[in-house]
Amino acid sequence: MAYESFQKHGHSSAESRSTSLYQLADLLENEKSSLAQLMTREMGKPISQSRAEIEKCALLCRYYGEHGPTFLADTPIKTDAAKSFIRKAPLGVILGVMPWNFPLWQVFRFAVPALMAGNTVLLKHASNVSGCALALEKLFLSIGLERFAFQTILIPGSRVEEILSNPICRGVSLTGSSKAGASVSALAGRYLIPSLLELGGNNAFVVLDDADIDRAVDRAVQARIQNNGQSCIAAKRFLVHNSLIEIFTEKLKEKFEHLKLGDPLEEETQVGPLARIDLAEELERQVNESIERGAMLQCGGTRCEAFYEPTILTNVDSEMPAWREETFGPVAAIRSFQTEEEAMDLVNESDYGLGVSIFTRSKEKALAMVNFLNEGAVFVNEIVKSDPRLPFGGVKSSGFGRELGKEGFEAFVNKKTVYVQ
Ligand code: NAP
Repeated sequence: MAYESFQKHGHSSAESRSTSLYQLADLLENEKSSLAQLMTREMGKPISQSRAEIEKCALLCRYYGEHGPTFLADTPIKTDAAKSFIRKAPLGVILGVMPWNFPLWQVFRFAVPALMAGNTVLLKHASNVSGCALALEKLFLSIGLERFAFQTILIPGSRVEEILSNPICRGVSLTGSSKAGASVSALAGRYLIPSLLELGGNNAFVVLDDADIDRAVDRAVQARIQNNGQSCIAAKRFLVHNSLIEIFTEKLKEKFEHLKLGDPLEEETQVGPLARIDLAEELERQVNESIERGAMLQCGGTRCEAFYEPTILTNVDSEMPAWREETFGPVAAIRSFQTEEEAMDLVNESDYGLGVSIFTRSKEKALAMVNFLNEGAVFVNEIVKSDPRLPFGGVKSSGFGRELGKEGFEAFVNKKTVYVQ
């Protein structure tokens, strides 16, 4: 059905695809309340953040609705031919293997540009957000797209090969752990299909000696706590100049201790439970092992079922799990540095390379660091965040390929060279 749908959708006009995306944006806004409840119930995100996620999905639909026709247009290239240009053709049926942490946003940012380009989409969502997966299929069915242009399939990760080995599948996009990424990319290699991997991150948050400390602390809370700390681009490693580490830690601790933990369906809750109890247990292990190796607990450090208290560790070194591994929950590991060179070495020592934030009053100083940072993104005086207009992706164990912006649109496109003499 996905392939038959592709035969029609792939030949539909850019304008009709764009109209469907605007319809989708309106539908998301109309259904915001029930979708947000579903998301929060399934994976524990505070309800206000679920609503914000839906609004961002609508923004993305309108972005591709507006720019998609331009991205799709032929690109002329001057050669010795009478006429030569690039035509952007869809590849076919694309599989999305998606994670639970942003159950709508991750799917939208994969599926919307792929559909705008004329591909059809199969969604294999994370097993703990099947309700969201089915709600997504219903949403896409309600707009003017070809029937079955978007389909949800409820299968475990172990059955992904059955899809990838089918010749109708012409690409795969996976957002998830590096382990799942390595496995799916090996399969993509075996069946010779392109893959895009958005994997884990261990982002650094660097506070230089001339930073606006209050802004840095304020942004540090959001960077670490949003989505209950379960974000690939969350800041996890805090690098603070020697001269500011005491005041930074004190102010961050004050903020962490006042965060409201509780039922994620309640409006005032800022931190809800982690998505599964085993994830909270894994975070507990990472913190406890780090403390055993000499890290100092400044606040938090306690688990109650799937809840984990916002936690700060200092006196951290490169071998401790809280620094070396991705911590998927509200745990900030803080350490100091003396020179910018030292800070950059510490940023780069991670196996991951998704993004880094630098806080400083000197934009020139921050811009001078950009070329030395082995990361997919550098944000100055701001937390690392995704935006439909900006390409998003990582290097090293954080994956390859780019989503969002024009680059994301081109991820699953056949750039056909046409030469006329
Ligand atoms: P996960 O366990 O890797 O699962 C992600 C998806 O992959 C799920 O649909 C899962 O299916 C599937 N999967 C797992 N193992 C697989 C395998 N061997 N073959 C095929 N499919 C497989 O990750 P998660 O716990 O859901 O998500 C958290 C991870 O995602 C973190 O590392 C986070 O940093 C990363 N992430 C990255 C980005 C980014 O943009 N870079 C964004 C969000 C999250 P089942 O649920 O059925 O196992």
